[in-house]
Amino acid sequence: MAQVRSATGRCLCGNVTVSLALADRFDVCHCSTCRRWGGGPMFAVEADGEVRFDGADHIEVFESSDWAERGFCRHCGTHLFYRLKEPVHYALPVGLLDDPGALRFDKEIFVDEQPDSYSFAGDRRRMTGEEVFEEFQAGTRDDPQEST
Ligand SMILES: [Zn+2]
Ligand SMILES: [Zn+2]
Repeated sequence: MAQVRSATGRCLCGNVTVSLALADRFDVCHCSTCRRWGGGPMFAVEADGEVRFDGADHIEVFESSDWAERGFCRHCGTHLFYRLKEPVHYALPVGLLDDPGALRFDKEIFVDEQPDSYSFAGDRRRMTGEEVFEEFQAGTRDDPQEST
């Protein structure tokens, strides 16, 4: 299994800082919601348990689907999290981290929504949206945050 370590991060303006535990890997989501939100695919680390935000009153939350919300800093617009509502689970943009370290590019999801105009080099697990939902519903609980 991946190593779990603690990490810190912050938004561009510094009003929001975050600390969390995470595995040493990240995923990329190609879904249209992530691309519309961020202007490109989302590079995300999965939080292991609690995520602590300082400056929470600077966070704006947008409900992006029936099951998930996305948070951002209301001053500088930095994207802070993707959050599953039930059970609560966080994925955070890799770019927030003060020290991204040697994160491993673990997998790509929603590849069925990926535009033809770009692709990433290298081999890794690639899952369609349907496969992501199936795995989540099967209760494997491996990477439950991975839905649009
Ligand atoms: Zn900010
Ligand atoms: Zn997505």
